[in-house]
Amino acid sequence: MTKVYNFSAGPAMLPEAVMQQAQQELLDWQGLGVSVMEISHRSAEFKAIAATAEADMRELLGVSDDYAVLFLHGGGQSQFSMVPMNLLGDADEVAYTDFGTWGHLAIAEARRYAKVRVVAELQTEGLIALPPQSQWQAADDCAYLYTVDNETVQGVEIPWQVDSPVPLVSDMSSNLLTRPVDVSRYGLIYACAQKNLGPAGVTIVVVKKSLLERVPISTTPKMFDYRQHVDKQSMLNTSPTFPWYMTGLVLKWMKAEGGVAEFARRNAEKAQALYACIDASEWFVSQVDPACRSRMNAVFHCREPQHEAAFLQFAHNEGLLGLKGHRSVGGLRASIYNAMPMAGVQRLIEVIQAFSPV
Ligand code: PMP
Repeated sequence: MTKVYNFSAGPAMLPEAVMQQAQQELLDWQGLGVSVMEISHRSAEFKAIAATAEADMRELLGVSDDYAVLFLHGGGQSQFSMVPMNLLGDADEVAYTDFGTWGHLAIAEARRYAKVRVVAELQTEGLIALPPQSQWQAADDCAYLYTVDNETVQGVEIPWQVDSPVPLVSDMSSNLLTRPVDVSRYGLIYACAQKNLGPAGVTIVVVKKSLLERVPISTTPKMFDYRQHVDKQSMLNTSPTFPWYMTGLVLKWMKAEGGVAEFARRNAEKAQALYACIDASEWFVSQVDPACRSRMNAVFHCREPQHEAAFLQFAHNEGLLGLKGHRSVGGLRASIYNAMPMAGVQRLIEVIQAFSPV
């Protein structure tokens, strides 16, 4: 049987070693005689899993004691509401960049709670590009500045360290732990798990504890209040135990493979090879400025859009899945997160090179 590679944007492929370990211990977690899915989130066994996952996340990402690390429900989009609800404080305005689908949706949600200043937008004339920070509007008088580090749908990733006079909030849902990050530059970082970290169902939030002195707006539901989650070590109610456990396995795997620096090296190599192939191709094209192309989500098109269905079918026959672009932008997208090996990217390159619509 042809080896299948899954380029889905998320839920995305997980490391084979992690899947095998989960399979092995599915019915009997470490001699307990029951599955990890069947035990209480408050049991000593699960608390140990949770504590190890947090410690490994702190180690891999380099998180100091000034920050809390939370494992929450609700996916990335819950953070669209939690961020303004908790961080608006006494201010009435918040600053956002609008570089794609996920920034756009976060802005719409923030507008329910605050005045939103859009400080920069995606450039779509000619090549798709990010405006340099020197061209962004000032955010000095805003409660925070919110950015999306990697726009999963448009395939753009901020290639420089964003500077901010106010607490910097970053949605790293599709690139957390794929390159080193100086956490001390941020007020809050979050990521849903289903791209680089684990299966859907758990969302990681890294938040500076001093920011939690800001009182949440009065209508904030208990489940949306960071302070309450910090107080209860992310166990305010029944936790998403299985995705949390799986994320823990992925973090252990990452450590064994060499940590974030090693994944940054692999990711750069994979992305360079794939974009070089697209750029050299007669049939395919990337419309994203090379300076801000995502290392995670390579968004590209057939020069003749009517060839895309044929390419998707051809790739599918070759065992390459999940290459259809997001429904809102069309085209093609190859998501090459941490778990995608170079061999998968090489296979995709071969298939792109072998494709001919005529
Ligand atoms: N932010 C980014 C950058 C994303 O890619 C996604 C999901 N694709 C989300 C937020 C929303 O995540 P969820 O579906 O878990 O709410």
